[in-house]
Amino acid sequence: MLDAICTYDKAHPKTYSIFEFKLLPEPEIDKLRYSLLCPVCKQKAYFRRASKDGKQACFGSRYHEKDCEEFNPSASKSEEQKQVAEVELIVLEQDSLVIDFRKTVISRKKSSQTDPAEQEQEGQEEPPVQQGSLTKGVQPSKSNKEKQKSAGLDEENNLPKVSKQGLAKLLTSLLRGSSLASSDLWIYTSEKHKWRAKNLFVNIKDAEPTENNAPRMYWGTISHADKTLNWLNPAEDRCVGLPISKYRDQLLSRFDIEDPADVEGAGFILFGKCVLSKDKKRKYIHLWGNDLQYFYLSKVREDS
Ligand SMILES: [Zn+2]
Repeated sequence: MLDAICTYDKAHPKTYSIFEFKLLPEPEIDKLRYSLLCPVCKQKAYFRRASKDGKQACFGSRYHEKDCEEFNPSASKSEEQKQVAEVELIVLEQDSLVIDFRKTVISRKKSSQTDPAEQEQEGQEEPPVQQGSLTKGVQPSKSNKEKQKSAGLDEENNLPKVSKQGLAKLLTSLLRGSSLASSDLWIYTSEKHKWRAKNLFVNIKDAEPTENNAPRMYWGTISHADKTLNWLNPAEDRCVGLPISKYRDQLLSRFDIEDPADVEGAGFILFGKCVLSKDKKRKYIHLWGNDLQYFYLSKVREDS
């Protein structure tokens, strides 16, 4: 459970995310923890602190109704929750994040067909990160806050903690409404280029040409494609189109797309620039360098 309803103030019940709740002052937690309910079935819930053996803080309930979706989440949902939680933790506890575009390519192939358990292992099998000033200080996200504090490092010159994440996980997190989209986290799109997350990630409905044609990381969902699969049309704004013909064949093969229906409802994220059509009525998002490493598509799963 990522959320719980707190009824301590009976007149004004408040929904807490686990990420907020676990950061409350100790006495506050102890005051509120008896008044937690499952957000779905409204049964009694509990809060569990992060454990020494690495389990994250969580909400749970032993009293879920049998049909409560929190009680019996589908495999894909719990995998999704795990990914969202992971990114949320980075936003809260770290200064920066490196987008590992290579990882996106690898994980896509596996994730389209394998079960979540295998995806989980995948993270552990990650090849070692590249050496360099940027990644030297990589630490697991659960590393303690004390170190972070005592380091007190200058964000421009020293990067005490750097997580690497692929586009797949970032997309899941954005689609689930995480705080990533509005956060001040530094995001590295290369060793040299960094952006505040809130300036980099742009939902497709807000896409506008930028000064100097600077790229952004556009994300959203696909409504449909044209019959020839040369255009993807985002659901959020019918005036925006993704022309994919320059990398179409690669894209179709990488994401196993045979039919326009395969992309309906898919989530997408791409690094690219937004340009106006000649008549200025439409906006197009051009993939950066037509390089497919900057594009990730998450098709609707059979089981969701
Ligand atoms: Zn429940």
